[in-house]
Amino acid sequence: MSTDKDCIFCQIIAGDIPSAKVYEDADVYAFLDISQVTKGHTLVIPKAHVKDIYQTNEEIASQLFARVPKISTAIEKSFKPKGINILSNTGELAGQSVFHLHLHLIPRYDQTDGFNPTWITHPDDYSANDLAEIANSISQNI
Ligand code: 5GP
Ligand code: ZN
Repeated sequence: MSTDKDCIFCQIIAGDIPSAKVYEDADVYAFLDISQVTKGHTLVIPKAHVKDIYQTNEEIASQLFARVPKISTAIEKSFKPKGINILSNTGELAGQSVFHLHLHLIPRYDQTDGFNPTWITHPDDYSANDLAEIANSISQNI
């Protein structure tokens, strides 16, 4: 399994940097984000060092997401949030600051709980044709 000695998440997996562990198995590690956006904010990471979603193969992606329902359910049982946002930032512009793939599980308690997804939707900006062209462009690259 690939690791990177300079990566803080690899060092957390190895136990060289302490963390508040939530879950661990052979392939996946989950721990509390040191900077809790909301109570119970958890990071789920593959043990293999992959930088981001682009470097992630289907096996690692499957293993990673397979653990998300049970960890989310445990958070729900513990703190009874009204919902959970699951997100992964890829690239600095998108907010990625640690370059070892991770999923954020952010329990949501109310509109002012600290998590503020600020995207603004413009439903009329794209025609059905525009959408078809965009979808075609992406699908041709899969
Ligand atoms: P990103 O910004 O890459 O999406 O998320 C990285 C997250 O890792 C941040 O929310 C940050 O608080 C968290 N983080 C950074 N360093 C550490 C650390 O040493 N320990 C823990 N538990 N979380 C960390
Ligand atoms: Zn790493």
